[in-house]
Amino acid sequence: MARRKKGSHGWVYFLWGMNGIVIVGLLSAFAFYVTNQRTFAANGSVETSPFNPTRELPPTSYFLPTLTPNPNYTPPVFETSTAFILENGPRPTIIGFSLAGRPIELYTFGAGEREYLIVAGIHGGYEWNTIALANELITHINEHPEVIATDATLYIIRNMNPDGEARAHGVDGRVNNNGVDLNRNFPAENWTAEWDRDGCWIYRPTTGGLYAGSEPETRTVMSFIKAHKIEAMISYHSAALGVFPGGVPWEEPSKRLAKALSKVTRYPYPPFDTGCEYTGTLADWAVENGVGAAVDMELRTHSNTDFDENLKALKVLLSFMP
Ligand SMILES: [Zn+2]
Repeated sequence: MARRKKGSHGWVYFLWGMNGIVIVGLLSAFAFYVTNQRTFAANGSVETSPFNPTRELPPTSYFLPTLTPNPNYTPPVFETSTAFILENGPRPTIIGFSLAGRPIELYTFGAGEREYLIVAGIHGGYEWNTIALANELITHINEHPEVIATDATLYIIRNMNPDGEARAHGVDGRVNNNGVDLNRNFPAENWTAEWDRDGCWIYRPTTGGLYAGSEPETRTVMSFIKAHKIEAMISYHSAALGVFPGGVPWEEPSKRLAKALSKVTRYPYPPFDTGCEYTGTLADWAVENGVGAAVDMELRTHSNTDFDENLKALKVLLSFMP
């Protein structure tokens, strides 16, 4: 009996001993963890972590236009050959990225209070001559800065749909990389994902987007416009249908701008009515969101820039008071 008792006491001591080792181990691990956390914070590592858990994002931030780049997204770098860069002139500001990560470039001229905007290339490579026109205008203004009055600022977004432009200079280049028609993706009051194709462009399948403002190219332009007070803007297209004022129904200041532009360019106003209903357009959204006057303006062909006419159009735009 005595031997057995001694034996069982031995087991009790052994078990308590093991417990002690485990407890000491856990305490050490905890102490090590706390020390490490403090060092991590002291080094500022928490602040620079790309997956910073302390950064507060509003729950809907991914659906709202924002000028803040997504901290977790690193766009692929594209050759600058896709960009139009003057040898001696302003460098573009990159205001956003396409789905494929191509930069959306903004050229700024002048620093006056009255702000004007030109957008080219919303329909991509299919309407590539609008981008060619933007390039010519940028070159011209760079050589003749007096074109911009001292109280005016002109912004040119030279290529709103760079993925479309890169894809093809034909009907395949019209939409963005999600197959969305960007000029039907703006959250104007009449936005729809689908529309009656009667009288409309029908050469490839396309949509207005999963929801209004769903595309990064659209949100880039929305953010830019929201951050400025634009007096008047032209969104360039091709070809031939004329000048379409913004607003549903067309707003007075936009009609006035369309008429004045038509007068110097001889692009038709009122524009040709093909029976197509336009929904979610940039010009409609713009006038619903603080832009004084906006038009969609179509070059005469899919191949020429009509430079002389559009130089006159530029003067009309820059002197327009909505
Ligand atoms: Zn177009």
